[in-house]
Amino acid sequence: MHKHHSALGLATTLRPVQPVTLIRPHAASRAARFFVEKFPGLTMYAVKANPSPDLLRVLWDSGITHYDVASIAEVRLVARTLPGAKLCFMHPVKAEEAIEEAYFKHGVRVFSLDSLEELSKILRATRYATDLTLCVRIRVSSDLSKLSLASKFGVGPGETKQLLFAARQAADTLGVCFHVGSQAMSPEAYAQAMERVRIAIVEAKVTVDVVDVGGGFPSVYPGMEPPALERYFETIHRAFESLPISYSAELWAEPGRALCAEYSSLIVRVERRRGTELYINDGAYGALFDAAHIGWRFPVNLLREKDSQAETEAFSFYGPTCDDLDHMAGPFLLPADVREGDYLEIGMLGAYGSAMRTAFNGFDAVETAIVTDDPMATLYDGMVVLPASNVVRLDEVRRRAMR
Ligand SMILES: *Cc1c(COP(=O)(O)O)cnc(C)c1O
Repeated sequence: MHKHHSALGLATTLRPVQPVTLIRPHAASRAARFFVEKFPGLTMYAVKANPSPDLLRVLWDSGITHYDVASIAEVRLVARTLPGAKLCFMHPVKAEEAIEEAYFKHGVRVFSLDSLEELSKILRATRYATDLTLCVRIRVSSDLSKLSLASKFGVGPGETKQLLFAARQAADTLGVCFHVGSQAMSPEAYAQAMERVRIAIVEAKVTVDVVDVGGGFPSVYPGMEPPALERYFETIHRAFESLPISYSAELWAEPGRALCAEYSSLIVRVERRRGTELYINDGAYGALFDAAHIGWRFPVNLLREKDSQAETEAFSFYGPTCDDLDHMAGPFLLPADVREGDYLEIGMLGAYGSAMRTAFNGFDAVETAIVTDDPMATLYDGMVVLPASNVVRLDEVRRRAMR
């Protein structure tokens, strides 16, 4: 893989015809070390956010030893890439064959569930194993998060007691888990979920050995600037300490987005300008699914040797396919003189970006390069780099890259 100093250097020297995924191993490593050092429990990485083997190795080298996997393909991928990793199968609805292969072939012992039916399935598939860690997924609110995960999974208040009781009988180690929704904008989301957990434990009168607070830890995007991650960790720690659980109980988390959002960005080329609409060479079927389908805004930056002096203006993007849905409303703020042939960097695409790429309409060709400059925004240097507008000042980025 080619290595370059910066996004700007790459765009101006190579003038790539295809989109280029830029990866920043140093940014993922910094995020992983932050969680390993500061989260008051065990951090496992939720692989679905970005299953790149290169990223998995970076996280492993930075101290992440546990991986939250949700499909047999993810189990195989992580087992093959990181033979020493501990895998936790945290999808509450699994194929029986997947459970069997995970348990017998890959040594998986941790499984999540949210129904009695899934409990029976896990027991059948593992031939009534006695060394299971079973994590009961509790339904909690997604109200304080940008992306809801409240409807599909999680046992409701009416059935929690019975399920916790049954899982306690079957498990060697009993856990409770939840997911507050992705990009939780307030630590209060975890405090509220932990209160649900407290009520469930009191009602079921079971001994709980693991409390897994799931994912949802935020990254930073235009218009979404969350409090410092330390606030989240403090809130979770305080709530954990007050739960009626065994003295030796463990606290786990499953961040996806927060560990990999800064890991990659994308260089695209403007193929046409029509008013304030830019036709670029990646889109909804590439790395910009969230920008198209849930209106997520990402930071953008014009990559020109000589900075534009023009005022900023709000643009929207069309992707390369022939589909009207391939549209990203933004607004993306760029200098008003942006034109055909210009290169743009779209930042913060490491989570749920490249992972969503398809080959629709023949636009799957993408190059990958390593860069050593800073990501367009970060939560890990004690301050948010993102300025009020979503245009990152290039001179600032360059100065930092040269140090
Ligand atoms: C998606 C998912 C995660 C990761 O969520 P983020 O919001 O990316 O942190 C963690 N756990 C489970 C069970 C998930 O489905």
